[in-house]
Amino acid sequence: MTFVMRITLLSRRTCLFLWCVGCLWRVAPALASTSVTFPESWEVGQAFAVALSSHTPFESPSVTWMNRVISLDMEPGREGYVSYALLGSHVRDVKPGDYPLEFGFIQGDERFLVKCVVRLKAKKYPEEHLKVDDKMVTPPRSQLARIQKETRLAEAARKTMTEERLWTTPPARPVPGVFTSSYGFRRVYNGVAKGYHAGTDFRAAVGTPIRAPFAGRVVLVGKHYYSGGSVFIDSGNGVVSLFFHMDKIDVKEGDPIKKGQVIGKSGATGRVTGPHLHYGLSLAGQYVDAAPLFETSVTALLSTMKSEVVRP
Ligand SMILES: [Zn+2]
Repeated sequence: MTFVMRITLLSRRTCLFLWCVGCLWRVAPALASTSVTFPESWEVGQAFAVALSSHTPFESPSVTWMNRVISLDMEPGREGYVSYALLGSHVRDVKPGDYPLEFGFIQGDERFLVKCVVRLKAKKYPEEHLKVDDKMVTPPRSQLARIQKETRLAEAARKTMTEERLWTTPPARPVPGVFTSSYGFRRVYNGVAKGYHAGTDFRAAVGTPIRAPFAGRVVLVGKHYYSGGSVFIDSGNGVVSLFFHMDKIDVKEGDPIKKGQVIGKSGATGRVTGPHLHYGLSLAGQYVDAAPLFETSVTALLSTMKSEVVRP
């Protein structure tokens, strides 16, 4: 199948609408109909939303961010059709700077590629000192192979990419307790710096029922060295939830999950200073700060962002 390729370049202050037919490049004015919404600038570690919307249907919508292609759903929107994605950047891995964001879709006999730029700004995350069992800072040799295997499984699970959007916002709170440790804290265990906290800790006594913030499907269940009783749920478009230190797990791999469904009970297993729930949110492989999402929705996030028309 051959398509006419149109490429739109959106920079922070300019909107160039370029299209290519074979080798012929032209510049054309942008008119109303299909648009993209994205943040011009956002903070490292914080989740943001992007959208592709149109009055007419489109096919194969996708967004590329941090070198990952995320296939999207097209669904009925307020004024036609829309695709959403939740994206972000892991504070451990991503430095402030300008990063490319690309939307792709097919409309009629044309394949579109819309190139945008998101400026990621620095955000200051505090340091946190914690006292844990020494074997949780320097694990015994006998546990190294196990830890490596668990790390591989966890990395694969949190990078799961499925097309169907099962997530809706705001997410359901997994437990009622307050936040006791935030995402992005630089963690120092027993005086040894051990990277960044990649999730949100909720206060939760052992045995507190844990509810799924988003609908989805269980992709990994395990009793891991560091994260203890663990569940990973894929909610589509690269949105994966992680629940750590659980005492009891009520689901198994492959189970479909409803939003708000109880998946088990909180505990104090793995590397902990006491009972709590660690909730992690991975967006297309980037761990982000989930906490602000509990207070907002995709539409509210998008209303703060820039919309650009990309196709007449
Ligand atoms: Zn945690």
